[in-house]
Amino acid sequence: MAVKHFDTLIVGSGFASTFFLHEYLKWAPESERVVVLERGLINSATPGKNYAEAKGMPFHKTMINLNPSKVWVQRLGFGGGTCWTGNSPRMHPNDFRTASLYGRGDDWPFQYSELEPYYCDAEDLMGISGGESAVFPRSRPYPLPPHRLNGLDREFAKKYPGLHFAMPCARPSAPGSGRAVCCSNGVCESCPVAAKFQVDFHMRAVYADPRVTLITEANVVQLDIQNGQVVGALYESAGEEHRVTCDLAAVGAHGIMSPFILLKSGLTDPALGRYLNEQIAISVDVLLDGVKNYDGSTITTGYGAMKLDGEFRRDHPGFLVENWNLPWLRAERGRWQERGYFKLVFEELPQERNYVAISDVDPSKPAVNYVDNSDYGKTAFAMADSFVAELLSGMPVESYKVEVPETLDGEAHIQGTTRMGTDPATSVVDANQIHHKVRNLLCLGSGVFTTCPAANPTLTLSALSLRAARKLKGQASPV
Ligand SMILES: Cc1cc2nc3c(=O)[nH]c(=O)nc-3n(C[C@H](O)[C@H](O)[C@H](O)COP(=O)(O)OP(=O)(O)OC[C@H]3O[C@@H](n4cnc5c(N)ncnc54)[C@H](O)[C@@H]3O)c2cc1C
Ligand code: SF4
Repeated sequence: MAVKHFDTLIVGSGFASTFFLHEYLKWAPESERVVVLERGLINSATPGKNYAEAKGMPFHKTMINLNPSKVWVQRLGFGGGTCWTGNSPRMHPNDFRTASLYGRGDDWPFQYSELEPYYCDAEDLMGISGGESAVFPRSRPYPLPPHRLNGLDREFAKKYPGLHFAMPCARPSAPGSGRAVCCSNGVCESCPVAAKFQVDFHMRAVYADPRVTLITEANVVQLDIQNGQVVGALYESAGEEHRVTCDLAAVGAHGIMSPFILLKSGLTDPALGRYLNEQIAISVDVLLDGVKNYDGSTITTGYGAMKLDGEFRRDHPGFLVENWNLPWLRAERGRWQERGYFKLVFEELPQERNYVAISDVDPSKPAVNYVDNSDYGKTAFAMADSFVAELLSGMPVESYKVEVPETLDGEAHIQGTTRMGTDPATSVVDANQIHHKVRNLLCLGSGVFTTCPAANPTLTLSALSLRAARKLKGQASPV
């Protein structure tokens, strides 16, 4: 079969790849030919199929998990993680320099101010609902107003003025994004009105561009690298092997599959596949005293930054409060709304010992070994009770239960395996997400995160993709 040539090859069609492609097409010539190879199918079913679908997908079958007490959840298919909840906070400005400020982790190769305009652009593309907050300086307002807080949020906001506010959210609070306003029924397993931003529904125009060829059910096995340059890729489809050639490659197959493809391609960077990480979460179930809850206007209404940043990060991790607005009711007449549920989501220190490799048992799959959380991260468990007691003290709370996970659990965020940095001994790509040695290869997605901030990753990885594409534009030749 003839091998087709493309100027640019993109692996995966999730947030990372699609935001990159969106920006890339803005400056690519009419003659440009881009191929996107996507392992999964196009979902023609209900928009917004949610967590149940992610859990039902055989994601775990695509890897050999060497420590099953750590759970990895993701959706495979056109549009990537369409099952996401849609929480879209930014990283805190100090998250970019934890080594300099607190002697923990590593500094990112650039600062918040560098990413800030790309955050704004990503928020515009996703139609994020959010409010102003001094914690996250911004140069433009959010495209949509913040969601309405719920009863428990309002109590937090009273106690922590300016530090508890509406969670920036990819579910519209008002008309204006071209999508339906979230009806806040809280039963979002399958959003009937496609309110939540999804790549597969809301960025289809990118794939309708005549310069783009999307091939689904194309499982990329490896890149062909010759003389330090990517020249093409091998992929499997319907049991057969196929090849394409290319001048530039961008891999956005999430933090487990991207490093695996690079390892299969013969790359041997010391950090490749290592530093696998995600946040640590602890849940709190609260019985409220006279406070009516569940009156917010979406599924996750509150964001608490009261313990996100400070000198304490030298000793223990910062965390954000994620306050949910799901109707988990209290079984008492007249008091059914007097219950709340929130999570403390902690930052973590990436560990070299947690890794993705080529499986010895089945080399067609990645072996994933998340050995353990860091000692720093584990202080979250030891201090959970005191953190929650402090948060809730003086608030109208009857009782509460802190739910510390018994296993390593998972936040469904896969980060760190193709890290960004200046030192090739501890990172894989440079500040522009270009591989340190293979200069026509980019890595996209949260695999490039230098550290593991408390923030949910998708807004940041999408902003990074916009930035990576625009940085290429600034070069006479991407190679
Ligand atoms: C239930 C759930 C809830 C979540 N909620 C939130 C949230 O509220 N906020 C937040 O910020 N994040 C959330 N996330 C995380 C979010 O989904 C991810 O951060 C995001 O999807 C990552 O985007 P990506 O493009 O890097 O990877 P993905 O979205 O995973 O896209 C990768 C793409 O690559 C394809 N692919 C994989 N391997 C290959 C291969 N070998 N060849 C070709 N294609 C391949 C996949 O099919 C997929 O389309 C959630 C995740 C889950 C599972
Ligand atoms: S609450 Fe919002 S996201 Fe959930 S199903 Fe309703 S409209 Fe969709």
